[in-house]
Amino acid sequence: MSKIKMKTPLVEMDGDEMTRVLWGWIKEILIEPFVDLKTEYYDLGLVSRDKTDDKITADSAKATLKYGVAVKCATITPNKQRVEEYNLKSMWKSPNGTIRAMLDGTVFRAPILVDGITPYIPTWKKPIVIARHAYGDIYKAVDGLAGRGQVTLSYTDRKGEKKELLVHDMDSDGVVLAMHNTDKSIRSFAKSCFNYALDCKLPLWFSTKDTISKVYDGNFKAIFNEIYETEYKEKFEKAGIEYMYTLIDDVVARIVRSEGGILWACKNYDGDVMSDMVATAYGSLAMMTSVLVSPDGVYEYEAAHGTVTRHYYKYIKGEETSTNPVATIFAWSGALKKRGELDGIKELVDFADKLECATIKTIESGKMTGDLVSLFKKEGVKPVKLNSRDFLCAIAENLN
Ligand code: NAP
Ligand code: MG
Repeated sequence: MSKIKMKTPLVEMDGDEMTRVLWGWIKEILIEPFVDLKTEYYDLGLVSRDKTDDKITADSAKATLKYGVAVKCATITPNKQRVEEYNLKSMWKSPNGTIRAMLDGTVFRAPILVDGITPYIPTWKKPIVIARHAYGDIYKAVDGLAGRGQVTLSYTDRKGEKKELLVHDMDSDGVVLAMHNTDKSIRSFAKSCFNYALDCKLPLWFSTKDTISKVYDGNFKAIFNEIYETEYKEKFEKAGIEYMYTLIDDVVARIVRSEGGILWACKNYDGDVMSDMVATAYGSLAMMTSVLVSPDGVYEYEAAHGTVTRHYYKYIKGEETSTNPVATIFAWSGALKKRGELDGIKELVDFADKLECATIKTIESGKMTGDLVSLFKKEGVKPVKLNSRDFLCAIAENLN
């Protein structure tokens, strides 16, 4: 059998710990036997980031802007303990934060539905897709300690005119934080969400806390509203879908009561937190796709979960692990599919579809990783727990 040829390379961003191990196996077992894989490789593992003073992260984002499609493995965001563990030169910033700041855009996260795994919330029949604004707010904030005294926020415009706001007159030690966002980024976030909703014919719900954050969140609300009224209202009406703005606490309550089939647009932090909750309620964090779509039409596919540290330490002790590779497989299939679409390679698009289908069918036939076994209930099928590598081999068998 001849392998599928690619034209443009994918930007490949390797990562850390258990997901780095899965990364190698997915390529070896599920991709390289079928595709003449062309990638431009960037090692975003913590050792390599430290060695390059984190330049490799920015380089990989630049390459993504150049080629258009990237696939990223989960990476460690170092904290104090990691600085000691890896003897780091510095507590490097979150690679996802760096990449998202450079590409701007919105992260769309959707659950991967499998027959036999029912959501914890029984009314959820259709996917809930979360659109997470990927720029700014606390992810691009400055924060620090403050003692007793006046904390102010000052702004100097280009003409040198100054404005100052009193944050708080501190009468004891405490903490402060200042964050920002830009109209430009909020506009592209809004457009990405309206376009995605139209593409997938999903109603769009957008939520912030503008009753409390009147200017900051109020600005998000106003921009969404203006763009909807001027550019999308007619299209939405024609498609028979609604756009609704409401408060974040209201939408949380509505989501729980809904039957799914909604695109939920969230500010950066809300999206970070809520996507983990939604993913878990649909079964597992490892059963969710995640893609960053930039306003210039650049795509970065990733898994939504972390590097699964606990499993990795078992793995390096030689113990068997049953870590779920599905989200990482779908990051690869998503990236290959998009590359195939952009380069007009139908075989590559078909291959990506078949890879996703084989993965789902393998689980539906009863073969799965440990995290799914207790969730799986299907008449006549007894779930069997496989280790990660055997699970990948079972998918390959289906694919063949
Ligand atoms: P995590 O790696 O997502 O794992 C947390 C727990 O969730 C695991 O211990 C495991 O539970 C379960 N889990 C997550 N993914 C799984 C999978 N694929 N298969 C089976 N079980 C899975 O989160 P963390 O332990 O908080 O973070 C570890 C590292 O990942 C940190 O250094 C963090 O900075 C990084 N991180 C990276 C990203 C990213 O790059 N996208 C995102 C989040 C975190 P059990 O132990 O109960 O089996
Ligand atoms: Mg999160």
